[in-house]
Amino acid sequence: MQFIETRGNDGKLPAAVPFSSAILNPRASYGGLYVPEELPDMSIGFLSEFLQSDYKTLAFALLKAFEIDVDDELLHEALERYDRFDDPNNPVPVVGLEEDLYVSELWHGPTRAFKDMALQPFGVILSALAKARKEQYLIMAATSGDTGPATLETFKNRDNIKVCCLYPAGGTSDVQRLQMVTEDAPNLKVIGVEGNFDDTQHALKSLLASEEFRKELKKRAIHLSAANSVNFGRIIFQIIYHIHSYLELVRREAIALGEEIYLVVPSGNFGNALGAYYAKKAGLPVRKILIASNANNILTELIETGVYDLRGRELIQTESPAMDILVSSNVERVLYDKFGPERTRELMESLAEERVYRLTEEEHARLREDFAAVYSTDEEGEKALAHYAAKGYLMDPHTATCLKAYRELRDEPLPTVIYSTAEWTKFSPTVARALGLDASNDREALQAVSEKMGVKIPPVIASLFDKPIIHDRIVKPEEIMQEMLSFL
Ligand SMILES: *Cc1c(COP(=O)(O)O)cnc(C)c1O
Repeated sequence: MQFIETRGNDGKLPAAVPFSSAILNPRASYGGLYVPEELPDMSIGFLSEFLQSDYKTLAFALLKAFEIDVDDELLHEALERYDRFDDPNNPVPVVGLEEDLYVSELWHGPTRAFKDMALQPFGVILSALAKARKEQYLIMAATSGDTGPATLETFKNRDNIKVCCLYPAGGTSDVQRLQMVTEDAPNLKVIGVEGNFDDTQHALKSLLASEEFRKELKKRAIHLSAANSVNFGRIIFQIIYHIHSYLELVRREAIALGEEIYLVVPSGNFGNALGAYYAKKAGLPVRKILIASNANNILTELIETGVYDLRGRELIQTESPAMDILVSSNVERVLYDKFGPERTRELMESLAEERVYRLTEEEHARLREDFAAVYSTDEEGEKALAHYAAKGYLMDPHTATCLKAYRELRDEPLPTVIYSTAEWTKFSPTVARALGLDASNDREALQAVSEKMGVKIPPVIASLFDKPIIHDRIVKPEEIMQEMLSFL
C-alpha cells in the first residue's frame, strides 16, 4: 500500500510513498502528514477469523492487511517486544469494572504508559529500515513526561538512530525524570531545559528551524525523523488494541460478534483516538468514539461546536499532563479522511494564520457521526479516581477523565471500553492526594498508595530511585544547540 499526504502534494516530494519512506521521513508536503491510501477491511470476516488469536497474531494480521513494505521477519521481531510486557500472552488486559464498563489497560510495558504500545515495536522497525538504507537518523523529542521515557527505552542501543529528549527541568514527575536521566546508552542524550514545557517545546522548534543546526546535521550526514504520533508508524500500532479490546468483550460474552460498543479515549495529540477512528472505519462495530479531555478542552470545543479556536487560549497545567495539548496534530488526519486534501490544507492554513478554523454545518455533522466529547476538571478526575479506588480499582489521572464521558455521552447503554493510558505509579502524588494520603514526593506517594490499596510497585519503578544519574545537564534554551553538537 502507498501513503499519501493530508494537504496534497507540492510537486517536490513524491506524490505517494511506501510505508518505509513515510515513517523515516514523516514530513509531507505543505507541512502535512502521511495517511494510508485506503484502509483494509477489518469487519466481521476479519474479526471472526481472529476471534481466538493472541495479541501478536492479531497484530501481525493487521500489519499484513496494510500491505506495508516491511519483511515478515522484521515484523515478527518488532512484535516480540510485546513479550517484555507484564504478561507476554496478554499484553493488554481488559478488566471489567461495572456491568457494561470495561477498562482496557494499555500500560503494561516497560515505561508504564500507553506510549509503549506503539513505540516498542516501532523502534525495532525504524532502526532496521535506517540500517538497510545505510542512513543515520536523529530523533528529537520535547517531552512533558511519557513520550520521552518510551522513546529512549525503545531506541536504546539500536543501530543508525540517535535520540535526544528535552524535558522541562522541574516540570515532570520524579518518576518520569528518573526514567529519562538514568537511561544509559551511547546513542541517547537527555537534556533538562530551564523553563516549563512550552519553553522546552519552543526551544526544540527553533532548533529544528535553525539553518545552522540543519547545516551541521548535513555535514554529519544525519537525517531528522520523528517518533511522535505525527509518524504513521506510531498510528498503525495504535489500531490493533482497539480491535483486541472489542474481541475481548466478545470472548467473555459481554457482546455478540457484530454488536456495537462505545470506546472512550483520553486524548491529547489525538493519536489514540485516530487509531480508534481507523478501526471503526475499517469495520469494527463502534457506535461512537467518546473523547475525554482535561481543562485544555479544545477537542471538546471542536467536536461540540465545529470550531477549533486557539485565540486567547493558554496551556493550563493539569494533573493529566500528557493531555495538556492545544495543537492536537492528528485531528488533521480525520479532517483529511472526511473532507479531502484541499479542504484540509485550507483549514490547517487558517489555523496557522488566524489561529482558528470553522467547519461548515455539514462538516461538523459528519464529525459528530463518529465522535462526541466532554472534558473533566482535575477535581472531577480526582473524584472519579477516589470513587473507583474505594471499589478496589486504582487508575491514573488520565484514565480518570474517561468516567465523565462514560456517564454523560452515551445515547444508549451499550457496553463501553475506556482506555487506561498510564499506570498510577507514574502519577503517584496526584493519586495519593485523591485518596486523601499525605506525601511530599513521588517516593512517599508510591509507598503510601501501595500500602493503602495493597498494590505492588513494579520493580522498574521502585528501582529508579537507586539507579545512577547518567544525564545531569540542565541548560538554557540557547545552549541546546551546542550541547547537541557535542553529543553528535
Ligand atoms: C500520550 C498520552 C495520552 C494522550 O494520547 P494521544 O494519543 O496523544 O491523544 C493520554 N494519556 C497518557 C498517559 C499519555 O501518555
